[in-house]
Amino acid sequence: MMQPSSCISNEAEEEISRHPCYSEEAHRFYARMHIPVAPACNIQCNYCNRKFDCVNESRPGVVSEVLSPEQAERKVKGVAAQLMQLSVVGVAGPGDPLANPEQTFDTFARVKKHVPDVSLCLSTNGLTLYRHVNEILELGIRHVTITINAIDPDIGREIYPWVFDEGVRYEGREAAELLISRQLIGLEMLAKLGILVKVNSIMIPGVNDHHLPAVSKRVKELGATLHNVTPLIIAPGSQYEMDGRKAPRPKELTTICRNCWGVTG
Ligand code: SF4
Repeated sequence: MMQPSSCISNEAEEEISRHPCYSEEAHRFYARMHIPVAPACNIQCNYCNRKFDCVNESRPGVVSEVLSPEQAERKVKGVAAQLMQLSVVGVAGPGDPLANPEQTFDTFARVKKHVPDVSLCLSTNGLTLYRHVNEILELGIRHVTITINAIDPDIGREIYPWVFDEGVRYEGREAAELLISRQLIGLEMLAKLGILVKVNSIMIPGVNDHHLPAVSKRVKELGATLHNVTPLIIAPGSQYEMDGRKAPRPKELTTICRNCWGVTG
């Protein structure tokens, strides 16, 4: 399977070297656990089929059984008791954690109380991130991943057919513009508070491939710690599958990342 390519700043290298979501090397010494407590999502990505888990964080076709915060607490306690290497617990779906804020933050609070030695991490599409900065700070969540596939709404509209916010459904360019503006605001707010923000971009040939260096430049300016580019994975039954879109070849991914910030794979 093709591996993601990364562009990393120096300052946070030490901290992320111990975090298996950020460092390949850390996989050898530390373990992470992702808990599925967040079923809903507030946007639609064209590579996703909502019958399955969030493609931004998972493999296509995977269906996780959703846990309640109480069940998640029991599961984390059980794993932590048996696995000394457990260093990170994250909520990453099966939808978007911040489209399910009560379940997500209740789960984090329970884990923090009962398994205080693990780091908490959160992955999100970023639509409502700016509304949850206080909870993130209060819970001591040090690592947040935002999936940002475009900073140009005309490209974003080819990826996101709609977003849903505060009872209103936005479509087309307006939807992409709202999502992108929220993602960038959320990134900047967290980075200014010293939270490590990883930006994940999905490389979609013919849609955003040529645009990723611009994404990389902008997210670095706003304070991202790391920009990861991962190849498109198309969920079965998604719009992109129906459109006949293809995943990038390994060489295409490497070439694009050479033009992103810093070093690349
Ligand atoms: S953020 Fe996109 S990929 Fe993830 S669940 Fe929502 S629609 Fe699917």
